Amino acid sequence: MGKHYYCDYCERSFADNLGHRKRHLKSNIHQQQRQAYYNSLRDASTILREEMGKQSCRKYQQTGECNFKESCRFSHMTPEKLYMLQERVRMDKQMADTRLNQPERDPVDIVNEWLAKRAKGEKPCTSASVTMVTKPKEEEPIHTVPVIFAGHANIPPSVLPPPPGDQINRGSEWG
Ligand SMILES: [Zn+2]
Ligand SMILES: [Zn+2]
Repeated sequence: MGKHYYCDYCERSFADNLGHRKRHLKSNIHQQQRQAYYNSLRDASTILREEMGKQSCRKYQQTGECNFKESCRFSHMTPEKLYMLQERVRMDKQMADTRLNQPERDPVDIVNEWLAKRAKGEKPCTSASVTMVTKPKEEEPIHTVPVIFAGHANIPPSVLPPPPGDQINRGSEWG
């Protein structure tokens, strides 16, 4: 009853163990699939921008066909297709934003760090008089599961709220 690892990029699964995974992630096929996936995402936003700039093809809208096919200078996008494309671009952007925002630093920590540095560096004798910024006690980080994961059974642990009691008291080292 071995577990199976499913690779979303390659759409294949194999017996899950460290060796298999490592070998797969290093394999040319996987690298290519992964690259293709990200290329397709980039294409989605490019296509969307192009299609939004076009007028809709009247012939295609009326008959469902157009002799110019892909080379038509008018848009052949149906509202549904356009919507799906928009969703895809939005999800892509959301994922990129999440990557960008990690690791997230508490602004209070940044201020305290700066104050401590200044206290040490410039006027050591006045360090005692430096007032540290204290966090409001009731402040609790707000964790929300991204909408795209709503209703999914297998939510990646990284997007789930931390378990209760897992709060790190980051302010304590400054006190
Ligand atoms: Zn793969
Ligand atoms: Zn057309």
